[in-house]
Amino acid sequence: MKLSHKSGMMNHMKNNEVMGLKKMNLKKKVMYTLSTGLLACTFSFAPLSAPAVAEAGGWDVVGNIFNTVSQAAFEYEAVRSNVLNWGNSPATQQQILNETVQKYGVDTSLEHNERVSRVLNQLIDRGHYAMEPNSLPFRWRVINSDEWNAACYANDFIEVNSALVEDLKSDDALAGVLAHEMTHGLHQHIADALAKQVLYKYGSSLLTMNADVFQSTLTSYVTNYITVKNTTNLNEADADESGFYLLCSAGFNPGGFPVETMAMTLQGDVDRNLLKEIFIGAADHPASQKRFEESVQRMEEYGYNHVKVKNDKDIFIDDKYFMTATATPEMADWANAYLIAGGICKGIHDYSTVEAWGFGTPDFLNDKAYDNLRNSLSDTALSDNLQTMLANAYSLDIYDKDHRSTKAKLKKAEKERNDKITKRKNEVMSSENASAYEAHFEGYTKLGLNVLAYKEAEKAYKANPNSYIQTGNMSRAYNALNADYKEKHNTWNDEYTQKAIEYTDKALKICQDNSIDDTYWLYSNMAYYQMQAQNYAASNEHALKAISLKPDEKSNYRFVGYNSLMMGDKGSAVKYYSLYLNHGGDKDMVPAELSSEVEADAKTIEEIYASNE
Ligand SMILES: [Zn+2]
Repeated sequence: MKLSHKSGMMNHMKNNEVMGLKKMNLKKKVMYTLSTGLLACTFSFAPLSAPAVAEAGGWDVVGNIFNTVSQAAFEYEAVRSNVLNWGNSPATQQQILNETVQKYGVDTSLEHNERVSRVLNQLIDRGHYAMEPNSLPFRWRVINSDEWNAACYANDFIEVNSALVEDLKSDDALAGVLAHEMTHGLHQHIADALAKQVLYKYGSSLLTMNADVFQSTLTSYVTNYITVKNTTNLNEADADESGFYLLCSAGFNPGGFPVETMAMTLQGDVDRNLLKEIFIGAADHPASQKRFEESVQRMEEYGYNHVKVKNDKDIFIDDKYFMTATATPEMADWANAYLIAGGICKGIHDYSTVEAWGFGTPDFLNDKAYDNLRNSLSDTALSDNLQTMLANAYSLDIYDKDHRSTKAKLKKAEKERNDKITKRKNEVMSSENASAYEAHFEGYTKLGLNVLAYKEAEKAYKANPNSYIQTGNMSRAYNALNADYKEKHNTWNDEYTQKAIEYTDKALKICQDNSIDDTYWLYSNMAYYQMQAQNYAASNEHALKAISLKPDEKSNYRFVGYNSLMMGDKGSAVKYYSLYLNHGGDKDMVPAELSSEVEADAKTIEEIYASNE
C-alpha cells in the first residue's frame, strides 16, 4: 500500500457503527458507508474501463462477460488482500491506537477501564471462536466521547466510547457490544465489505448486458449485486448473531444482548414512553427494532423457548406468569427484566435438570451472570415458584412432543455452529501458520509489548512445536517478560528464567537432531539465561560455544568475564572483559574492581598493529 493512501485508509478502515447516527436514515447510512468504502478502495490498482455494452447475443458478449468476471475476481482479491495486509501489522495497530488516543483523549476513569478490560478478557479467554492467522490479537482503549458508540478497525483495535461504558451498567450488556465488535474483527468484515465494492461496480455493469447469455453467471452476479447493496446490514447482522453466541460461550448472561440493543436505541435518557413509539412507529429505526427483536429471539432460543418477557418487564415461563421486574438504582426495570429472563435461559441451557441448579445450596446461581436473577429472588415463595416452573419446563422437554423437537432442533444447530468454529480453530493452528504468528511475535517485540509478543510466540510454538525457531522464540518471549519483571521488581523472576532455559535447551536439541547449524543465537541466549540463574559454569560453556561461532560478537566475552569473576577466576575475568572491550564493549559494564587491570590489558586491533609497525 502506498504511503500517500495511508491517511485515507486510516480514516475509513474503521467499521464505524452507524447505530449512533440517529438522524441519518438507513438508506443514507448504507450509502455513506459505501461511499467511504469506495474512497478507501482507490489504492494500489488502476481504475478499469467499464465493460463494453453487449450487442445482441454472440461470442463477443460471452468474451466480455468472461473478461469482466475474471477482472472482477482479480480486483476483489486485490482489495481484500490489501486490506488484510494492512490489518495484520502490529506497528499499524499501534499507530491507529496512538492516533485515536491523540484525537479523542483516553477516558481516565479507572472503573471504566477495569470494566472493559475485565469483560473483553473474559470474551477473549473463555469465548468459543477462531482467530484467523492473518488477524492480530485485539487491543482496545476507552476514549472520551459523548457519542454512544464503539468501533473495530481492520487491525483489531477496538475503540470504546466513554458514554457507552457509562450508560451500560451491566457487564453482560457491555459484553454484547464488545462481542459484536470482536466479530467484525474475527470475521474480517472490513476486508470483505471493501472487496465487495468491486462486485458492486461490476454487478451493475453486468445488469445492463444481454441476460440470455451466460444466464447462470449473470444470476450469480445479480445475487452478488443485491448482496453488496446490503453489505453493511449483512455484516451487522453477522456481528449481532455470532456476537451473541460468542457472549454466551464466554459465560455471560444472554440477556445482555437485548439490553444492549435496546439501550442503543434509547441512548441514555430518552423517556420510557418513547420506547414503544420508537419500536413500533418510527420509520427511522427499523434496523434497531429488528436487531432488538432478533436478540430477544436468540435469548429465548438459548433457553429452549421456555422464557418470555412481556410488556418489557413481566417474565413468563411456559406462558405462565412468574414475576415483574422492578428498577434498581443502577438499572431500569426493562433492563433488569431481560437480565433476569436471560439468567433463567442460561440456567435452562447450562443445567440439564432442575436438580443441577442446586436450589437451597451455596452453589445456587453462584455466578456473576446470574446476579440479576439471584437478587430478584428475595423471598422464598418466589424461589420455590421458580423451582416448580423449571421442573415443569424440563419435564415438557422430555414428554411434550413440540418442546422435545424444538429443543432437539436448537441443540443440533448449536452443535453445528460450535463444530464449525472448532474445525476452524484447529485449522488455524496448523504448522504452516506458525510463521504468521511468529511475524506477530516479532512485531510486538519491536514495540516492547511483551505480553502480546509472548501470546503470539506461544501460538507459533503450539502450531509448530518441532520448529527450533518457534521453540527458541518461546525463550526470547519469556526473557522479555523477565526483563519487564526485573524493571518492576528489581530482581529476576526465577520461573521465567527456568522457562527460557528449558525452551532454549529444547531448541538446541532440535538443531542437533536435524543437523541445523543456525545455533549461534541459541548458545548466546542460553549463556545469558544461565547467567541469570547463577549457573556460571553452564553459562560459560554456552558463551564459549557462541564465541567460537561468532568471534566478533562482544556480549559473549562479557558473559565469560562475569561468570569467571563469580567463580573466583580473576585472571580469566580480566582476560575476557578485556576482549569484551576490544570488541567494542562499554567500559561502564566492567566491574569497578577489575577496571584498571582490564583497561591496561584491553587493546584495540589498531593498538596491536601500532605496537608492531
Ligand atoms: Zn457493527
